[in-house]
Amino acid sequence: MCPRKRRQQRLATLWLTLLCAAVITACAPAAAGAWARHTPVPILVYHHVQGYLAGNYLMYVDTSQFASQLRYLRSHGYHPVTMQQVWDDWTGRADLPRRPVVLSFDDGYLDQYSNAARQLRSYHWPAVLNLVVHNGTALRDAQVRRMVKWGWEIGSHTLGHPILTRCSSATLHRELVQSRRVLEHKSKVLVDFFCYPGGIYDRRVMRAVRDAGYLAATSIRFGAATPYGRYALPRIAVYWGESLSAFGGRMRQAVARAL
Ligand SMILES: [Zn+2]
Repeated sequence: MCPRKRRQQRLATLWLTLLCAAVITACAPAAAGAWARHTPVPILVYHHVQGYLAGNYLMYVDTSQFASQLRYLRSHGYHPVTMQQVWDDWTGRADLPRRPVVLSFDDGYLDQYSNAARQLRSYHWPAVLNLVVHNGTALRDAQVRRMVKWGWEIGSHTLGHPILTRCSSATLHRELVQSRRVLEHKSKVLVDFFCYPGGIYDRRVMRAVRDAGYLAATSIRFGAATPYGRYALPRIAVYWGESLSAFGGRMRQAVARAL
């Protein structure tokens, strides 16, 4: 083989090696077996924590019902954690406590501060607040910062709660990137997790969430979260009037299915 051809062949091999390395690096976090652990974690979804007013039962949990759920979690050995703690376990940076559970609160209603955060504070338990930036009934910035001080994690739930699958690419980008920036500025903490408005997403939306730099995203599909499919993590919606046995049973069922 002439020296020129040999040089061309060496260059081609080098490019192929570099290309493979780049592909492996890009795919590594999502590849099966790349996770240090895949602990299934039930993520509960709450909206209003107050008496039922109207509409969907999934939008309300009574204050006393919420209190008895917290007592149930404590007496059954559950340990509320943040999404960051779950992520640290999955990536091998830290261990989760036994029976982890995430309590997530969507949209950002005043009653989440006055009725949920105050109760959780007495347990010294963290929770996740999936905030919509432009929410008419929203919490005030000072309340959000107080919740952060009490151990709450802030997740982005977009600027204006649109159905993301119907958004143009430019709007989608703005909803994902600007909401994160505004929430980080308001709360003074990093916002690394996303929650789909209405739980609605498709492949394009998932890709956009990943490209915006979020580590994972939650939906409202039933189940316990594991790192596989981290841009569509399932959750367990808690509903008004649900018995404690149903509440506990659905958490156990979700975890058992994910093992
Ligand atoms: Zn929402």
